[in-house]
Amino acid sequence: MSFKNLNLIEPLEKAIAKQGYTEPTPIQLKAIPDLLKGRDLIGIAQTGTGKTAAFVLPILQRMSEKYSRNLRTLILAPTRELAAQIGESFSAYGEFLNFKHTVIFGGVGQGPQVNALSRGVDIVIATPGRLLDLMNQGRVNLKDIEFFVLDEADRMLDMGFIYDIKKIISRLPQRRQSLFFSATMSREINGLAEKLLNNPVHVEVIAQATPVDSVKQRVFFVDSAAKEKLLLDLLKQENLTRVLVFTRTKHRANKIEAYLSHNNIPVDAIHGNKSQNARTQALRDFKSGKIRVLVATDIAARGIDIDCISHVINFELPNEPESYVHRIGRTARAGAEGTAYSFCAADERGFLNDIERLIRQKIEVMPHAYHSEHAKNAVGAAARPLPRQQRSNHRNQQRQGHRNFSPNFKPRFRR
Ligand code: AMP
Repeated sequence: MSFKNLNLIEPLEKAIAKQGYTEPTPIQLKAIPDLLKGRDLIGIAQTGTGKTAAFVLPILQRMSEKYSRNLRTLILAPTRELAAQIGESFSAYGEFLNFKHTVIFGGVGQGPQVNALSRGVDIVIATPGRLLDLMNQGRVNLKDIEFFVLDEADRMLDMGFIYDIKKIISRLPQRRQSLFFSATMSREINGLAEKLLNNPVHVEVIAQATPVDSVKQRVFFVDSAAKEKLLLDLLKQENLTRVLVFTRTKHRANKIEAYLSHNNIPVDAIHGNKSQNARTQALRDFKSGKIRVLVATDIAARGIDIDCISHVINFELPNEPESYVHRIGRTARAGAEGTAYSFCAADERGFLNDIERLIRQKIEVMPHAYHSEHAKNAVGAAARPLPRQQRSNHRNQQRQGHRNFSPNFKPRFRR
């Protein structure tokens, strides 16, 4: 099946060819024909399935059926990264059409976003909080919206955006085409979809990334400050024979190496700041059993091919759920039994939700001496790390004895 069968207009075909796509992905094949007819749609699909093109292409085609420079399309996304990515898709697929879009998100000054809006745009891709702020200031008007997309709805609800979303939806015109995407379905998600959509087409595609079934997975809810002690306690168990510990940063990898070394555990660390020689030596020592623990960042661990890793420990959860699958795939090689332990602090709770959504299973919770209910129950903004700038403000303010975060930081809780 080729893109030709989808009856896309020439400027879109040209853009697709430029991207090097030869055939549509299953979700594109299933969704595009109905979307071109103007139907509403509910799509159960994850990132990586080609879902962005599945809505961007038909929206651009429908928009080009008439010309008027109004804000006609609104896409809501849960994070600035996703919003920016969708913006890039509009640039790529819309290269040979004459539409303008802008991306709106919080955590940065609103000036440039306001300027872009006032110059006139056809398409806005936004995170809900900042969009609502701008709507309340009278800087965005949704009265001409014809196409509306709610992307990653389940993640939006996890992040506590439901009230913002409902307010935004209440300002949309009744006559519009609405698309709703979620990686998972639940009663709450279904309820929201029913309110939003009118006789929708259902499209579902199955995730491709599923971890090897032979890996025993457990999650430890723990405050960040107790993670090192928890790791040391676990390493007292003799069945942890060859352990690969993952961190998100080089700095953290070094700290863990120093801590374990100080506690007489044979350990080494590999990351981008280590020379190739040092990395090769560390891998050799890990393979031979000279060191029991290897601490690694995701990038450094790429391409490590070592059998008989008994345990993978995610000292920090990855911010990309796909990395979790890659990490735990390092154990249980060649039919061996393997175990993956994940430490989850309050500000990583959202990452855990993302992972469980991707692998389509709940990871069993492990009871232990440092268990943190606070981490287990974190929601909304408390369940994600603060952006870098806010993190340093936060640290400074804590040093000064303030409890508030930076002025831009607005807590969002599930209400
Ligand atoms: P998404 O699920 O929208 O995040 O897309 C995942 C990746 O697939 C993106 O890098 C797209 O550029 C790419 N992609 C989308 N559609 C196709 C296609 N028909 N053929 C090949 N790659 C595609």
